[in-house]
Amino acid sequence: MKFFGAHVSASGGVFNAPLNAMNIGAKAFALFTKNQRQWSAKALDNKTIDLWFKNLEKSKIEAKHILPHNSYLINLGHPDIEAREKSLDSFIDEVQRCEILALDKLNFHPGSHLRKISEEECLDNIAKCMNITLDKTNGVKLVLENTAGQGSNLGFKFEHLAYIIDKIEDKSRVGVCIDTCHMFTAGYDIRTKEAYEKSWNDFENIVGFKYLSGMHINDSKPELGSRVDRHDSLGEGKIGWDAFKFIANDPRMEDIPLVLETIDESIWVKEIEALYSLIK
Ligand SMILES: [Zn+2]
Ligand SMILES: [Zn+2]
Repeated sequence: MKFFGAHVSASGGVFNAPLNAMNIGAKAFALFTKNQRQWSAKALDNKTIDLWFKNLEKSKIEAKHILPHNSYLINLGHPDIEAREKSLDSFIDEVQRCEILALDKLNFHPGSHLRKISEEECLDNIAKCMNITLDKTNGVKLVLENTAGQGSNLGFKFEHLAYIIDKIEDKSRVGVCIDTCHMFTAGYDIRTKEAYEKSWNDFENIVGFKYLSGMHINDSKPELGSRVDRHDSLGEGKIGWDAFKFIANDPRMEDIPLVLETIDESIWVKEIEALYSLIK
């Protein structure tokens, strides 16, 4: 079974997210558990937590189909030790927020070398921060997202993800989220059946489907291999509907959150319906 949804708003409180998801016919969703553009956030209070569980029950969406996304400020690969430690503290706080909300995953962009250190050093920093986080927390899987490779962001090659995973001590607590826009602009074509199978075979050989813990379902404004991160509505960009039809019918993507981050939220209801209608 497929679980499609969208990255819904949590404004007003995290407890609004399950209702926002329910209202657009989503069976999965993503959310920020704090303001994604600020370093600190006040702790989740009991009222917020109670309401979260109440609304989650109402939505009938299971925790395993929820993919929280961390703050954009965090860079676990930061070349500067102080800046990296600030990121690490904030990251651990985010994982703890997931623990409190009984969420079993946290999705994050691996990190950036800012052209000050090598790719390898940056990936090593990321893996070290992840191992420290895993030591200090329980039950939450750290889900690395592939990136478009814009600027100095790493994670655009499957090899980057595999390199990090290889260095993680507890492999039961590491996963991968593949964003279709990012994979496409990073150079992995999925527009024809042949290209789709080739790209996912590469994924299986380099990373492995056992790590696939969620997906971001986006079309892409930029061309294949452009290394630019700009999402588009499904069917409106350079990827097109065929790729989403392949995903809708691919048994390797069952039972994980498949979440839209497309640009026009007013058509998410239609996009989710369309994705379900593609299932043969
Ligand atoms: Zn994404
Ligand atoms: Zn993106």
